[in-house]
Amino acid sequence: MKPLSKNIIVALLVVLALGVVFSTYDLGGSKAKPTDIGISDLVSKVEAGEVKSIDVEGNSLDIKNQKDEEFLANKESAQSLNEILTGYGVTAEQLKAVNITVKEPSALSSLVSNLLPTLLFVLIFGAVLYFFLRQMQGANNKAMTFGQANAKESTNKKNRVTFAEVAGATEAKQELGEIVEFLKTPKKFADLGAKIPKGVLLMGPPGTGKTLMARAVSGEANVPFFHISGSEFVEMFVGVGASRVRDLFARAKKAAPCIVFIDEIDAVGRQRGSGTGGGHDEREQTLNQILVEMDGFEPNLGVIVMAATNRPDVLDSALLRPGRFDRRVTLDRPDLKEREAILKIHAASKPLAADVDLKRIAERTPGMAGADLMNIMNEAAILAARADKKETSQTELLEAIEKVMLGPERKSHILGEEERLVTAYHEAGHAVVGHLLPYCDDVHKVSIIARGRAAGYTMSIPDEDRKMHSRNEFYDDLAMTLGGYVAEQEIFGDFTTGASNDLQKATAMARELVTQFGMSELLGPRTYGNDDDHAYFGRGEARDYSEKIAEQIDSEMNRVLADALQKAREIVRKHRVQLDKIVGELLTKETIEKEAFESLLGPSIKRPKVTVQAVNA
Ligand code: ADP
Ligand code: MG
Ligand code: ZN
Repeated sequence: MKPLSKNIIVALLVVLALGVVFSTYDLGGSKAKPTDIGISDLVSKVEAGEVKSIDVEGNSLDIKNQKDEEFLANKESAQSLNEILTGYGVTAEQLKAVNITVKEPSALSSLVSNLLPTLLFVLIFGAVLYFFLRQMQGANNKAMTFGQANAKESTNKKNRVTFAEVAGATEAKQELGEIVEFLKTPKKFADLGAKIPKGVLLMGPPGTGKTLMARAVSGEANVPFFHISGSEFVEMFVGVGASRVRDLFARAKKAAPCIVFIDEIDAVGRQRGSGTGGGHDEREQTLNQILVEMDGFEPNLGVIVMAATNRPDVLDSALLRPGRFDRRVTLDRPDLKEREAILKIHAASKPLAADVDLKRIAERTPGMAGADLMNIMNEAAILAARADKKETSQTELLEAIEKVMLGPERKSHILGEEERLVTAYHEAGHAVVGHLLPYCDDVHKVSIIARGRAAGYTMSIPDEDRKMHSRNEFYDDLAMTLGGYVAEQEIFGDFTTGASNDLQKATAMARELVTQFGMSELLGPRTYGNDDDHAYFGRGEARDYSEKIAEQIDSEMNRVLADALQKAREIVRKHRVQLDKIVGELLTKETIEKEAFESLLGPSIKRPKVTVQAVNA
């Protein structure tokens, strides 16, 4: 409980106690307690001439008899004492004998008699209400602050992130450096009549540092940073999102210059105007409100809205219009140099052994994003700590790569004799096919130690970063993917469920090859259908081809897969000796590294270099 509410409670208790004291003891009467009598008793006493004086104070009568004994009585408030007594038949003579003094009721006593009960009631009621409300808030958190944006504002100097902490992303930094300038010296631009951009959209795959980059921009410019995630707008109750947007922008305008960062904006910013369901309406309203707010504020106010998404393709085009998120910054997966730099940043706080070679780690992690690399450094440190080491060494780093890529090793998952043998042939199948096909990546490791969900694994890593993939690569990769399946069939004449993951992968690859990349001669250079979930978000039908084409796609996929299977089968049959060698090694050592593997099979066959054929003029 907060100290303030504690004080309130103490104050309430004191007032209550006082109230009890006031109401039970009459503050005026300090002498022996007088007797209470009724009006009729009083009347008979007056008639008998016993009464010496009556003090009237409000409605209470303080009566003294000839012997100076005291009595108390109460009269009705509407009538005066005279009227009452006369009404009871007391004569004027008799009245005269009584010395009646009317006192103005004292402030204190009237308070005590009149106000206190009401006051007490109000206080008790208030206290009860207060506790109830608190309880409700506790149980149903935020029930009272629904419409308010729960954007986290951070101006904390200690957690300030700067561009130095974002490795690589040179172009993005350049582009955003401009934004930093805008925020730092808005006047310089305003004087020249330049309009400061309102919105910046950060795009890139998950974990490439979009959130980090947005923070770094606010850190560099040293301005407040309001951070909210797109999904936080979308609540159970319609209209909440829009009111949160309003609230967020109101706060931001007060804090300008500042950055409003809407993370994962695709949660609200998807293409509008299709689909049904409440959630969708809510999203639409929220999105509209964002657009309204962005249009509403003065361009040179100094509020810059940054947003991040890994799905720029599904965003509503209204968001991308000039005057809104018209600046777009792409963050890509890091290349070799950048990966090394990212690893260095995350290694800075960790003691590393002398044998650590971050370049080699970077070489082993193509395609990984910054978040994965951070994860690897962290996992390695955990592994080192578990082994009671004082420093992280290369072994832990290499182990961490595999852990991040394939899941943790499951040493306790002991395979039976037979399963071990099947797994060994399965993995050897992948490895041998991969090794002997020129367009496959080099095999770096083969293992029959279970990891994650796989019973064993073959790890192949490209020797350079590659953004494009050729059809030859796809065909060879498909054959390698089916290598395990083929080996099982060739050796044991039977299949196991262990290959099902490979088959899924191969099928997906074949579909892409045929429908997305135009790599099938039969179907030609066009795409078929939209990939993944666009259909649900307003791009109309997912399928944009006829039933006849659907059949052709199926048969093309089957052909591609059958070719790959055939290719793999030939290799497995032809190189049975090598296959058996690998299996023997796997059964004794469980894991074969690249060097040992190549000494068993010979060096890998390199892909032919791409050449330009001379044109005869
Ligand atoms: P995104 O928002 O793009 O999904 P994040 O910004 O959340 O990715 O990145 C997650 C973490 O990964 C960051 O906190 C940071 O530690 C690390 N990271 C990602 N990219 C980089 C980078 N270029 N340099 C340094 N660290 C990075
Ligand atoms: Mg993020
Ligand atoms: Zn497999």
